[in-house]
Amino acid sequence: MSTIGRCFTDVRRAVPEGVQLVAVSKFHPVEHLLDAYAAGCRVMGESRVQELCAKREQLPQDIEWHFIGHLQPNKVKYIAPFVSLIHAVDTPKLLAEISRRALACARCVPCLLQVHVAREETKFGFTPDELRQFLDEGAWRQMEGARIDGLMCMASNTDDMAQVEAEFTQVRTLFDELRARHFADASHFRLRSYGMSHDWPVAVRCGSNMVRIGTAIFGQRA
Ligand SMILES: *Cc1c(COP(=O)(O)O)cnc(C)c1O
Repeated sequence: MSTIGRCFTDVRRAVPEGVQLVAVSKFHPVEHLLDAYAAGCRVMGESRVQELCAKREQLPQDIEWHFIGHLQPNKVKYIAPFVSLIHAVDTPKLLAEISRRALACARCVPCLLQVHVAREETKFGFTPDELRQFLDEGAWRQMEGARIDGLMCMASNTDDMAQVEAEFTQVRTLFDELRARHFADASHFRLRSYGMSHDWPVAVRCGSNMVRIGTAIFGQRA
């Protein structure tokens, strides 16, 4: 088996049952994605629209594609016909556009709302209070082409694992609060997407059930 295939297999075995593994293939060439595919990988995450669309054309059709990066509303139309999950919805406008474009192709696209908990100023996402307000206002209930399946976050880029743990725990607590308040009857609201190559074990301990892992499978990005 290829090195990438072995790495994929190791990661998949290490991630506990009940936690979905998204193999983050961004910036890696199609041949490397095929190595992971040969080892059984069927869920891949990309962060650029053009790259995702180009790779999808060259790879087997049974791969589920997740969009994990920052998404501009004007690019939604390119992925709405096929994307399986959009992880980083960070504005009401983006959610509305996803709904509009999904309905235009008779779909309902699963989405996660991105929560900003990291210390860095530059990260995208709703603050917890913005998220509470957005869900309270309720306009999202009319966006029938976009289904809110949970929350996503990125922790601070730091070696301070106590800080990382505090951020993930904050998202876990917020998830439970929002589920009780707005999604008590909605079994689809169940995804907590956090954890990357360097912090996924912490994330899983803090309640993640979807990890997005790139480097540990595919190696360093060019
Ligand atoms: C690149 C990326 C990842 C994967 O990061 P690794 O450190 O390579 O595992 C996860 N999530 C998002 C949003 C990313 O952009």
